[in-house]
Amino acid sequence: MSINLKSLVSVLNAEWIGSPADIFIDHISIDSRSLQNGSQTLFFALSGVNHDAHLYIAELIEKGVQNFVVEQIPENVTGKANFLLVKNSLSALQNFAAYYRAGFHFPIIGLTGSNGKTIVKEWLNFLLSPDYNIIRSPKSYNSQVGVPLSVIAINEMHNLGIFEAGISTVNEMVNLERIIKPNIGVLTSIGSAHDEGFENLKQKINEKLLLFKDSSVIIYQNNDLVDECLSEFCSQYFLDGRTLFSWSFTNDSADVFIVEKEAKNDSTLIKYQYKGEVFSLEIPFSDSASIENAISCLLVLLYFEYDFALIQNRIKMLYPVKMRLEVKNGINGCSIIDDSYSSDFQSLKIALDFLESQKKNASKTVILSDIFQSGFSNEELYSKVAQLISDNKIHRVIGIGPTISSFKDKFANSTVFQNTADFIHEIERFDFNNETILIKGARSFQFEEIVSLLEEKTHETVLEINLDAISHNFNYFKSKLGQNVKMMVMVKAFGYGNGGLEIAKLLEHHKVDYLGVAFADEGISLKNGGIKLPIMVLNPESTSFPSIIQYNLEPEIYSIKGLNAFLKIAREKNLKDYPIHIKLDTGMHRLGFENNTIDELIQTLKGNSTVRVQSILSHLATSDDSNYFDFVNQQISLFEELSLKLMSELNINPIRHILNTSGISNFPNAQYNMVRLGIGLYGVSNDSAEQKYLENVGTLKSIISQVRTIPAGDSVGYGRRFMAQKETKIATIPIGYADGISRLWGNQAGFVTIKNQKAFIVGSVCMDMLMADVTHIDCKEGDSVVIFGESPTVIEMAEVLRTIPYEIMTSISQRVKRVFFR
Ligand SMILES: *Cc1c(COP(=O)(O)O)cnc(C)c1O
Repeated sequence: MSINLKSLVSVLNAEWIGSPADIFIDHISIDSRSLQNGSQTLFFALSGVNHDAHLYIAELIEKGVQNFVVEQIPENVTGKANFLLVKNSLSALQNFAAYYRAGFHFPIIGLTGSNGKTIVKEWLNFLLSPDYNIIRSPKSYNSQVGVPLSVIAINEMHNLGIFEAGISTVNEMVNLERIIKPNIGVLTSIGSAHDEGFENLKQKINEKLLLFKDSSVIIYQNNDLVDECLSEFCSQYFLDGRTLFSWSFTNDSADVFIVEKEAKNDSTLIKYQYKGEVFSLEIPFSDSASIENAISCLLVLLYFEYDFALIQNRIKMLYPVKMRLEVKNGINGCSIIDDSYSSDFQSLKIALDFLESQKKNASKTVILSDIFQSGFSNEELYSKVAQLISDNKIHRVIGIGPTISSFKDKFANSTVFQNTADFIHEIERFDFNNETILIKGARSFQFEEIVSLLEEKTHETVLEINLDAISHNFNYFKSKLGQNVKMMVMVKAFGYGNGGLEIAKLLEHHKVDYLGVAFADEGISLKNGGIKLPIMVLNPESTSFPSIIQYNLEPEIYSIKGLNAFLKIAREKNLKDYPIHIKLDTGMHRLGFENNTIDELIQTLKGNSTVRVQSILSHLATSDDSNYFDFVNQQISLFEELSLKLMSELNINPIRHILNTSGISNFPNAQYNMVRLGIGLYGVSNDSAEQKYLENVGTLKSIISQVRTIPAGDSVGYGRRFMAQKETKIATIPIGYADGISRLWGNQAGFVTIKNQKAFIVGSVCMDMLMADVTHIDCKEGDSVVIFGESPTVIEMAEVLRTIPYEIMTSISQRVKRVFFR
């Protein structure tokens, strides 16, 4: 893409404020963190309810970005760059994408539906790619922001597009339709679930159909409701020559009628009737969702007039789709980003951005296969890839494949191999350690073998952390704060068990003001990990004062003794104005200066220039319990009184803060200048109404090690605490009390979830294993098991175990691998 910015003024309905010269851009960005932003970038500053990219403009200008679409020009950057001033940056991005899309005239497949969009898209890409240069939405980029970003990756060499559109309520599809403008419409599984954003199923279907306003064919699974909606749709949006192309398991008047469906081991054989003939087709899956998705693909191939044998051959090779990028712990302190199932230029850009935002080690390595279907000539493609690699400051590149090998010279510090086996043969000599490694290759290269060699070997139990859910929860609480109220986030105890550094990095991006940890060493490891945010240490032991100072951590001071000890060391080091935080005891009676020690505190601090009171805080004992809200109010008024006294006597104006998560929910008038968010960030509220607005962050997962059936009268586990009343199927799962699962959760008190069904734990929880009754569940060894997450939630568990979610979350042993994803 090379676009004259001035030509966009009318497209975006914008006001131009900037240089009168012609300016050309070749890259669009909305991500301030991306290292791909540069002088040719047009940056759209989006402002959501929760996130305002205008805040990053000054930083971006410093990094060389010159051109911005903005809703207002932040004061500090006036005159420093070119601005297209618009009413709404998101609409401007969408207008731009629609304008850009209109310049291309090849067929575009548009996918929508409740389930299966991304899978059908990836499969169609696989099935059609031998014959087309395809541009498709990366991952599941199907939102109001994702769709425009997908479409603007089209270039002149493409001759088929596959884009997905996802909506959550009415009036959203019109925007996506005008951007995608599909000629071929595919409605994937519509689901019967009642979606919150719609009044009823019919309204949901009608809204989704709007994507197909100008589509000359609509492919769908026949059923009464969809048929009814479609016939209304077709008369309202009449289009000459439009074809409806349907399939069905039950209705033999559908264009493709599935006559027979026979389950084999891990695959399914179907017979379908089409144009009066019957064909058979092997689908390499056994679950009904995959079968329906494969049939959607079949209809597209039939519409493209592929012959029966070719369809048969290609569908047989369909594979499970990985929906997301995963970060894994690697050998020798490495971390690994596993993207071993795709290689196209667009997804490489996304993966490199992800690498930058997730890197735990300064040094970055990329293992990359040949890239297919870029739409560019090889020469041009690998020049672009090399540029991307260099913009992203990748330290070394390992290229695998004949084509990338022949362009070795374009890459600095690269090693190339003809194939994966050659690389694996020499893997030892690369001495991978303390680096972040992106492993990205087309399926045919089987990079999963490289992943498994470089991955740290642990057992199958993992705690998956959803970073997007953390962002969501953060923004939810942020939206409750008054203007200018700062946010400290508590990441003590390893981020409440969820992972300290990874979460701190994300919070740094969200521009939180402070982090809080319990002990100095937690703060030190964050600083060592590159965190620059100020960090308050709640429980500084006096032995740790020297390292607190060395690492620029800020101690909470809660006693005269502690203050004197800190002052002694600070004076020895000739410090001036070192920030400290004064903790007041207003009723919690844990740590803090009590009323009767305030005068001595004032005396010690008066005229003192060694330290500076950065903040004054206190902690509430009952902010989550409405029976004791009077007590909270007493604490708050005592805090007000004592902090005012300190401020006036010392003539200072520090940050004041007293609210934790439930304080934020219940005492909006006591936000002072800052709040301290803890458990809420991790998706738990003490208020069931508020809980609905939070997203689940951690999912503790394992797998089934073994399944057996025992006769009535047999027992399970230590002490024979479970006696089978009837023939019972038992699954053994490799997680136990040493991983943090309480023994009180055993003996049918608790359950795990397998294939979306509850399986009660039978017998006692062992050290490293537990057993569950799976008599009613069709499951086998290797199947995934949810220990907690969406169901059971930690809140449900805590109720049964008579404890609080905090304890459950922080008890998950460090031997359980944490995996972060978006
Ligand atoms: C842990 C902690 C918080 C956060 O509490 P949540 O209930 O998790 O929000 C706030 N302040 C102090 C002093 C803490 O120790």
